[in-house]
This record gives sequence, structure tokens and C-alpha cells, in this order.
Amino acid sequence: MDHDLPDRLRDLRDTAERVASETIGPKADEIDRSAAWPAHAMRALAGAGLMGLVAPRTAGGEEQGMLGLLAVTEAIGRSCASTAMCYGMHCVGTAVIAAKATPYQRRHYLEPIAAGRHVTSLALSESGPGSNFYVTETSLRREGDIYVVDGTKQFVTSGGRADSYVVSTIASDPDARAGEFSCLIVDAEQLADAWLEPWDGFGMRGNSSRGVRLERVRVARQNLLGEEGDQDWYVFEIVTPYFLAAMSATYLGIARAALDLTTEHLRTRHFSHSGETLAALPVLQQELADMWAAVQTSRGFVYDAARRADAGQADALPWIFMTKALAAETVVSVTNRAMTLCGGSAYRQNSRLARLLRDARASHVMAPTSHILRQWTGRALLGMPLL
Ligand SMILES: Cc1cc2nc3c(=O)[nH]c(=O)nc-3n(C[C@H](O)[C@H](O)[C@H](O)COP(=O)(O)OP(=O)(O)OC[C@H]3O[C@@H](n4cnc5c(N)ncnc54)[C@H](O)[C@@H]3O)c2cc1C
Repeated sequence: MDHDLPDRLRDLRDTAERVASETIGPKADEIDRSAAWPAHAMRALAGAGLMGLVAPRTAGGEEQGMLGLLAVTEAIGRSCASTAMCYGMHCVGTAVIAAKATPYQRRHYLEPIAAGRHVTSLALSESGPGSNFYVTETSLRREGDIYVVDGTKQFVTSGGRADSYVVSTIASDPDARAGEFSCLIVDAEQLADAWLEPWDGFGMRGNSSRGVRLERVRVARQNLLGEEGDQDWYVFEIVTPYFLAAMSATYLGIARAALDLTTEHLRTRHFSHSGETLAALPVLQQELADMWAAVQTSRGFVYDAARRADAGQADALPWIFMTKALAAETVVSVTNRAMTLCGGSAYRQNSRLARLLRDARASHVMAPTSHILRQWTGRALLGMPLL
């Protein structure tokens, strides 16, 4: 599935693999232990020219679609899931900005992103609507040439570390429909004192997934993305597909890392009494075969979905929806089984596999959650409205 990537994308994926093995992987355990945002990793990805992966060519980017996002983020996720998440959300934010960028937005955001000088992220989720990320209670009020934004976001990846955030809002107009939202780019300086407590996650600990309280934050009208109330278009055309590609890639990367660790452990763990390795045990050979097949089956589905989406195929939607649900099933099952096969050495505080298992558990929870994705897939297959 990754052998037939277009040449340019294969080069980008190879670059990501090199940065991951030289710079990102060696510090992944430290990032997990200290819950520090992976600044060194984001710098290295910028230095390698990967931050403009989905930015348009006219802004100096690579203009890769979902397949590109998938292949590059998976390579990063195999070494450090927290970095993959920060990188993935940066790319999703970039795609949202690029979708209907004005000349001003191209100059101020997309060109610096493509040059590796600007990190962005998404601030959509709120504690009230929870997983229903397309519903927002953060209000937007127009005052002349300025929008005034009030509300509290939760779980903002790269919170307090990115240079800008795509923020979803709803017009404070009493006639506005629930779920009818507008997206704005908010610069980091406007949120300097607005961040809530540091992220101390169960997994994805380098993600800096913080909350932020926006109190009368004044945003220039030129920072509005698309039209006011563009919600459906942004949610289903850009946010959801790009987000699902980035997340599926992160979780497939974790699953492959768990498979690599398990294979290595089975080969190298010798019993002193028999001289045999774990690899000699047929039951463990079968377990490894099942894990490998589960990972390859999910990868095949997810890569196929990304190709269909990039080609604009009419039937792509249910494929896209199922990508993350499937990757989540796979990564949770594979890391769980790996924990059994790797025995006591894995079941230590802070073992590499323990990190992978904890990181994997974010997969079902992150919106759109696995339950919601299955529901949307079923509804799409039945020809029913999604919401
Ligand atoms: C590591 C991490 C990083 C994140 N990064 C970002 C980010 O960068 N930007 C951002 O905006 N958000 C981000 N999020 C937030 C995330 O996308 C969700 O919004 C959040 O995790 C929802 O949590 P909750 O407790 O409110 O879930 P709840 O809404 O309370 O849901 C709990 C569970 O109930 C089920 N459920 C809920 N609603 C439905 C439904 N309608 N149908 C069926 N089942 C349902 C699901 O199984 C769900 O897991 C991140 C979350 C995590 C954990």
C-alpha cells in the first residue's frame, strides 16, 4: 500500500522516517515522562521542509492531500505519537486555513507555515457539547471591523505552543441555529494569558492538550475563514476528512511500533533452561501473525480510503468515516496483545510498550469518536442525513 506512493510523496515519507529515527524517536520516552511539548521534533520537521505538507503550492507548500498526510504522519507516529498528533493537527489546521484562504491569510499564515516558521492547531472542542465537536457555544459578536469572541475550549493540541489556532464560534445572534458555526484564526499573542492548567494526560502526554478561556478576545474580520456560518462545508469537506487521516495515521504508526517491539522481543527473549526463544513457540507465532494481519488490513483500508478521498470519488465518505474507527480498534487490540506477548519486561512503569498502550487509548475518545463514526458510516450507507 505504501510501495505505490507517488515519487514526491515517497521522498517526503522517507524524509519523515529519517527525522523520526534520528531526532524524534530517541526523545519520545522523555517527552512522555515529562509531558513536555516536543519542540525539538517540530523544529526538526520544519528544518526538513515538512510543515507545509498540505499547504498550497502557490504559498510554497507541497499541496499533498490526505494520502500525503497519512503517509508522513504514520512515519512520525511510529516513533512518537505525541509528535504525530501535534504535527497532524498542524496539518489539519493548515488545510482548514487553505480551503478558502484570502490573499491576506495566504501571506500571513500559509506562507510562514510552508516556510516552517509557523505552527497552527485547532480549538474546536468544548466541555459542554463534548464529542459533538461540530456544536460550539463559543460566541462571536461583530463590532465594526472586529469580532469579539467569548467561550472556553478544551483539549487544544499544542495549546500555548502553537502560533495560531483555528477557533470555532457561533454568532451571538439569537436566531443562529445550534451547530451553525464560523471559524476564525486567532493569533497566539491574543491568548497569552488565557491558557488553563497544563496537560497531564494518561497518554499523548507531549500533546499539550490544554483548555483556553477566551474572554472578549478581539479578532480582526480578515481572520474569518470562508463565510460566516460555513459550518457544514468545513466540517464534512475539510475538518473531518483531514482530521481522520491524521489521526488514523498516528494510530497506525503506534500499532506498527507495537508490532516491531513484539517481533524483536519474541526473537531475542531466550529461556535459560532450554536455550529457546519465545519465537519458537507456535502459539506466539500465531498471535504475531494475527496482529500483523490486523495492522495490514487496517492500513490497506485506510490508504484505500485516502486515495478515494483525494480522487474525489462520490462513495468516499463512508470509507473516510471508518478509517479512524478501524485504526482505533486495531491499535487498542494490537498494543493490548503486545503487552501480553512481551511479558514482564513490558509491564513496567514507563516501558516503551506501556507508552504505546496509553497513547493508543486516546483513539476511541478523540472526536469524532468511534461510536459517532460508526453511526455516520451506517447513515451514509443507508442514504440518511448524517446529523
Ligand atoms: C489527546 C487528545 C487530544 C485532543 N486534541 C484536540 C484538539 O486539538 N482540538 C480539539 O478541538 N479537540 C481535541 N480533543 C478533544 C476530543 O476531540 C473530544 O472532544 C473530547 O475528547 C471529548 O471528551 P468528552 O469527555 O467531552 O466526551 P463525551 O462527549 O462525554 O463522550 C464520552 C463517550 O461517549 C460516547 N458518545 C458521546 N457522544 C456520542 C454520540 N453522539 N453518539 C454515540 N456515542 C457518543 C463516545 O464513546 C465518547 O467517547 C482532544 C482529545 C484528546 C484526548
